[in-house]
Amino acid sequence: MNGTKVASVELKLVDLNRQHDRLRDELMRAFDTVIQRGRFILGEEVTRFEKAFAQLHGCGYAVGVSNGTDAITLALKALNIGPGAEVIVPAMTFFATAEAVCNVGATPVLVDVENETLGLDPARAREAITAATRAIIPVHLHGWPVPLEPLLKLANEFELAIVEDCAQAHGASENGHPVGSRSDAGCFSCFPAKNLGALGDAGILITQSEAIADRVRALANHGRRQKHANTEVGFNNRLDELQAAILNVKLPRLMEWNERRRALARRYSEHLIETPLKVPNLSDERRVSSFHLYVVRCRDRAERDELAADLRGMGIETGMHYPTPLHLQPGLSHLGCTKGSFPVAEQAAETMLSLPLFPEMREDEQDCVVEGILKYFDVPKGSNTVVRPFAKTAGAAGC
Ligand SMILES: *Cc1c(COP(=O)(O)O)cnc(C)c1O
Repeated sequence: MNGTKVASVELKLVDLNRQHDRLRDELMRAFDTVIQRGRFILGEEVTRFEKAFAQLHGCGYAVGVSNGTDAITLALKALNIGPGAEVIVPAMTFFATAEAVCNVGATPVLVDVENETLGLDPARAREAITAATRAIIPVHLHGWPVPLEPLLKLANEFELAIVEDCAQAHGASENGHPVGSRSDAGCFSCFPAKNLGALGDAGILITQSEAIADRVRALANHGRRQKHANTEVGFNNRLDELQAAILNVKLPRLMEWNERRRALARRYSEHLIETPLKVPNLSDERRVSSFHLYVVRCRDRAERDELAADLRGMGIETGMHYPTPLHLQPGLSHLGCTKGSFPVAEQAAETMLSLPLFPEMREDEQDCVVEGILKYFDVPKGSNTVVRPFAKTAGAAGC
């Protein structure tokens, strides 16, 4: 101990150690099996993962790839979207959605999102369509499935492709349709902190089209379908066997983990409804979010930043997904969008706060978060809230 007092985080936004501690034996066995087998690229683990993942999402085909960003890039490539093409992308998403568009040489055309779940606004998408538009990329942000029907209509009317960014939405569904199962392709990230995370970078693409699956598979493997026969210039974007083996251990638990996330999310919303926060509404049972993140909205930026600081002081980590909309990112300044262009995305960026949420989080820990927020807003614990006081442990910052 050096004597300096540092507020240690007691409750993380996402605590992966808990999941891995429980699965350690199985993960180690999977790792060992792959090492013993001696095949590390395109083997049976990848094939098994692809089959199971496609089936879970009601899709005919799946291709394991290197990460979620590459899944989007490969989908666009496979659809022959490149220089001269415009692709409609929501202004509120992770940078990678637009990055993939840029990296195939196409131009991202940003549009605003709807205020409720921050999904692509179909009316704004329609207004953004030009003669150069080739595709739309809806993003199921925080796990909320974007209603696909209006977008499929646009796609049909204007002959556009739909590529879904499902990086945060493994197992989410709308009207019983899993995300990624009704468009040209669904692109998933298995970045460690996602709902289904590898022990490193990984991703997977699903599609109902044999042709798209075949093209993506070839593109991800140096543009070849057979050894020594490179029929086009592709990439090295394969999913490797070790990561696939890890994902095979985790996949059978995904839906159960998502259920647990939803139960915790419901509990948060029930307790926080009395505060000035805008909380996720779980009443529409046709839209099943994967609750990758539980995101509340404050009244303004100052309140958001102050609440986050207060919670941090209590040992509770929070996040922002995302504090800068794409059009205000320096890396996309060449698109020429100015502040004020996308008011919903901008307002959300300033007021969103992600609270701790992961399947292994305990209810007494969640109560700490709720209590901290009620305290911040000076809301007395009403009949609706069953928050228990929590004991201060020695050296703990609060929670
Ligand atoms: C994580 C994420 C990506 C990128 O996935 P990687 O596997 O990190 O490349 C893309 N879009 C969204 C919305 C994401 O959350």
